[in-house]
Amino acid sequence: MAKIQMKTPLVEMDGDEMTRIIWKMIKDILICPYVDLKSEYYDLGLQHRNETNDQVTFDSAYATKKYGVAVKCATITPNAARMTEYDLKEMWKSPNGTIRAILDGTVFRTPIIVKGITPYIPTWTKPITIARHAYGDVYKNTEMQVPADAKCELVCTDKDGNETRSLIHQFGESGGIIQGMHNVNASIESFARSCFNFALDTHQDIWFASKDTISKKYDHRFKDIFQEIYDAEYKEKFEAAGIEYFYTLIDDAVARVIRSEGGYIWACKNYDGDVMSDMVATAYGSLAMMTSVLVSPDGVYEYEAAHGTVQRHYYKHLKGEKTSTNSVATLFAWTGALRKRGELDELPELVHFADCLEKATIQTIEEGVMTGDLALLSTLPNKKKVDTETFLVEIDQRLKNLLA
Ligand code: NAP
Ligand code: MG
Repeated sequence: MAKIQMKTPLVEMDGDEMTRIIWKMIKDILICPYVDLKSEYYDLGLQHRNETNDQVTFDSAYATKKYGVAVKCATITPNAARMTEYDLKEMWKSPNGTIRAILDGTVFRTPIIVKGITPYIPTWTKPITIARHAYGDVYKNTEMQVPADAKCELVCTDKDGNETRSLIHQFGESGGIIQGMHNVNASIESFARSCFNFALDTHQDIWFASKDTISKKYDHRFKDIFQEIYDAEYKEKFEAAGIEYFYTLIDDAVARVIRSEGGYIWACKNYDGDVMSDMVATAYGSLAMMTSVLVSPDGVYEYEAAHGTVQRHYYKHLKGEKTSTNSVATLFAWTGALRKRGELDELPELVHFADCLEKATIQTIEEGVMTGDLALLSTLPNKKKVDTETFLVEIDQRLKNLLA
């Protein structure tokens, strides 16, 4: 069978540890035999980031801006232990943070659902995608402990030096705590546009919630910006697509999410997204089945797995032991990126290949062949735990049938 030809290169960001091993296996076993892979390769492995003074991370993000689609392997964010382990010149910043800052994007996390692994909320038969606004609020705050009898105010000095003051609290004999936080209209607008674009792209409703009844200026501003952008730029497109934008109070949203069957995008303010994404991921079963895509407001996409480099498995691998590491989220990062490339370049055969590869993966697990993490969770009667490579070979057998 002739290999599928690509038009525009995919930006390929290689990474670290066990996921780097899986990365190569996925390409060798499942992609390169079928696709004449055109990629612009950036090695974001920690050693190469260190050699290039992290320039490679910046270059990979600029290439993503240029070509529009990237696929990224999990990477180490260095800490003190990694400084010694890799003999680093500096404690380089998180690559994901650097890339996100350059692309100004929003991260969407979606669970992959398979038969045999029932979510803790059994009504969730479709995925819930969480979009987290990743700028500002409590993550860029200023806070103080306040002594007794202190008077605390918010002071805003405009560019001409005029001051506006507002009392936070006149403390009494008990001191206390205060906190100042901010957000920026432009960032909220980008967030809203990324969310609306992704809803159109994936043909799903989008929910957004905040505490606007209590926070009449701060949270209300989020609600207003979403509504203004929706009305001006997206209302007609949503109606034509038959999807809905739905705003409600955060308390009501949480209750509705639990009662729902899934199948929508839940846009969250920064803190809500931080907390709720952990809850939703856990409820669906496994972090190794969670995909993640960074979408910029101007329509640039970077696909990856939500999990890290699976360090513990890598050390086993280095000792020559067989591992049973789950490659599904990394594999779906590849299929997501290939499908998007196929859509943009009008290559239906590439879209079809991505669809078949996902189908083959799910089929493999639903026929009882899976990695150890899933074998622990699955309720299928005849399940078989396989090692990292065998799992990919099993997928390939089913992929061949689907493509035939
Ligand atoms: P992790 O790599 O996600 O792994 C945590 C644990 O979760 C693993 O030890 C494993 O449990 C389980 N697990 C995660 N993914 C799995 C998979 N695909 N298959 C099977 N089990 C899986 O998180 P971490 O250990 O906290 O972080 C390791 C490194 O990853 C760190 O250097 C961190 O900076 C980096 N990281 C990168 C990203 C990213 O690039 N997006 C995200 C998070 C973390 P068992 O060991 O019990 O089997
Ligand atoms: Mg969290």
